[in-house]
Amino acid sequence: MPNIYESMTDEQLDAEITKLEAEVETLRFRDLTLDMTRGKPSPEQENLSRPMLDVLTSTSDLANQMVDAANYGAPDGIPSARRLMADVLEVDPQHLILGGSSSLNIMYDIVTNAWLHGIRGNEPWGEQARRHPVKFLCPSPGYDRHFLVSENAGFQNVPVRMTADGPDMDEVECLVENDPTVKGIWCVPKYSNPTGVTYSDATVRRFAALKPAAPDFRIFWDNAYVVHDLSDRPDELLEIFGALKEAGNDDLVYEFASTSKVTFAGSGIAAVAASAGDLAELKHWFSVERVCGNKMNELMHARYLRNKAGVLAHMAKHAEVLRPRFALVEQKLTEGLGGTGCATWSHPHGGYFVSFDGPEGSAKRIVALAAELGVRMTAAGATWPNRHDPHDTNIRIAPSYPSLDNLEVALDVLVVCTKYISAKLAREKRAGIAE
Ligand code: PLP
Repeated sequence: MPNIYESMTDEQLDAEITKLEAEVETLRFRDLTLDMTRGKPSPEQENLSRPMLDVLTSTSDLANQMVDAANYGAPDGIPSARRLMADVLEVDPQHLILGGSSSLNIMYDIVTNAWLHGIRGNEPWGEQARRHPVKFLCPSPGYDRHFLVSENAGFQNVPVRMTADGPDMDEVECLVENDPTVKGIWCVPKYSNPTGVTYSDATVRRFAALKPAAPDFRIFWDNAYVVHDLSDRPDELLEIFGALKEAGNDDLVYEFASTSKVTFAGSGIAAVAASAGDLAELKHWFSVERVCGNKMNELMHARYLRNKAGVLAHMAKHAEVLRPRFALVEQKLTEGLGGTGCATWSHPHGGYFVSFDGPEGSAKRIVALAAELGVRMTAAGATWPNRHDPHDTNIRIAPSYPSLDNLEVALDVLVVCTKYISAKLAREKRAGIAE
């Protein structure tokens, strides 16, 4: 279907471009400086967790079930904090350990250790890479920092199409089950970054039933948005380890989560869950790189959040802050671009992002023009492996951090830039055809 600009006569299109140019110039004069590059919690959200800072004082009891949080020991995390994270992920605490304050850091550590030492007695990924390329599957659009971790290690990142139910499982099965050089896949199964998609039960079951060609293939199941609901009817994600059990599979999944977007981003607690055998290996790797984690932080989190009900009550307050921002994105994009045929965008029930697609060949130009007008967005292409969006359409909108007033202005800029670039593309296409 052609967009409105493509359907116009030459005269109408020229008049429209002149009008949009004037709108762009008006915005330029406003001298804006707005940042929508990353999905960061807003200052109001930070304030929600400030009371946690009062939980530990100089007179607090620093013991947790015989573990002294103020000293070395308990490298897998203090019992109550492990239970808390296991509760959130609905897994057995025996199958989960804590690892510092960043889940991305745990993912990086696992990829690096597997590269150097190999998984469960298999040849190190790095050694295999000397003979032939090793591959990591990247459902796209996806989370740029995941893709960087595998790219940085030396993997060839392979994009996999995202659908409304999760990654295209026909493609995943075909690649994982037939190609032994495929070693991993990045998954954000609930409220995916950036599409907001939650994997359907059928998708989760197909992941759980995979029969990889490589014995050292693992699914990196990053459940970063497990409790990050925005709607009264939150998405439900089938629990992966239960699905694995049903499928009779065992050593296949590393699951991750953190409280970065529950308490303080970058200063939360992070966890990994895995099969008994895989977890034993992770414990060994981690025992070489650290004596133990930051148990004072674990204690503070466990005492403040207490259990899953405590986490959900806290997340309901985050949702109160975030919901108006997501509603504003929906409203402004509908008012500005609805019916133009120039853009589509996601309508997530949770998470941190809205995924926006403009016309083919538009994303880089829209983001560049918005930056010229003072609105910085995540770089176009970042949501694809090697920063290469093959159709140059996708832009990640991160509405959490700006105030509502700033977000409104940023969305006005995005709308004008999208219209202007769409109109210019329509003009260029015509000129190209005329040549
Ligand atoms: N995983 C996903 C999918 C994310 O979107 C983010 C942050 O945006 C992270 C992980 C980072 O988590 P952490 O702060 O625990 O490293």
